[in-house]
Amino acid sequence: METPPTPRRTTCAHCLRPQVTCLCALARPTAHRTEVLVLQHPQEQRQAKNSVALLRLSLANCEVVVGERFEPAVLQALLHRPGRDTRLLYPDVPAAPAPPAPPGTGQPLRLVVIDGTWRKSLRMLLEHPMLAALPRLSLDAPAPTCYRAIRAARRPDQVSTLEATVQALAMLEGPAFDAGPLLDAFSRFVDGVAARQRYRVTSSDT
Ligand SMILES: [Zn+2]
Repeated sequence: METPPTPRRTTCAHCLRPQVTCLCALARPTAHRTEVLVLQHPQEQRQAKNSVALLRLSLANCEVVVGERFEPAVLQALLHRPGRDTRLLYPDVPAAPAPPAPPGTGQPLRLVVIDGTWRKSLRMLLEHPMLAALPRLSLDAPAPTCYRAIRAARRPDQVSTLEATVQALAMLEGPAFDAGPLLDAFSRFVDGVAARQRYRVTSSDT
C-alpha cells in the first residue's frame, strides 16, 4: 500500500517563505546606489521575524550569504570586489575597535552588514580578522526601532538589520535615497508578526 503524500506547507516560489508569511506583497522596490552584502547567521535565516528577507526583496542590489564561519578565500572574494570600496556597518566598540578610516577613493561603496543578535554578530566579527579590518560605518544615533515588540532578546539600542541598513543607506546617499516606503512596509511586517505571536499565545492558553 502506498503511503499518502506528507502534507507540505506551501512555499512562495518568489520569497521562499511559507505562503502564510509570504512577504512579496510588502516588498517596496527602493532605488539605491550602494551594494549591500548581508552576512547572515544561520539562526537568523530560520526566524520568521527576521527583517532581512524584506530588505532583500526591496533592494535590487542586496546579496545575502548565510554562514557563521567563512574561509578566508571565500570572505576575500565576497568582501573585496573590484570597483567598490567596502565598509562594514558596525559601531566602534571597545571589544572590537574600528581600524583607522582610510582616505576615500571616490569609488561607489559596498556595505557589509552582519545579521545576528548583538552577541553573535560580535563573535562573527572577532572570529574573522578580515571583517574586523574593514573600515567601519557607524550609525550616529540609531533611530528608535519598531522592532522591540517582537525581538526582546536584542539590546535595547539595537535596531533591526533592515532599519540599520536603511539608516546607513540614507546617511551615504542623502535625499536621493527614499527610506519611507520600506520603513512603512517594515512596520506592517512587525505588526503582522506581533499579531501572529499574540494569536499563538492566545491559542495555547485555551
Ligand atoms: Zn512571497
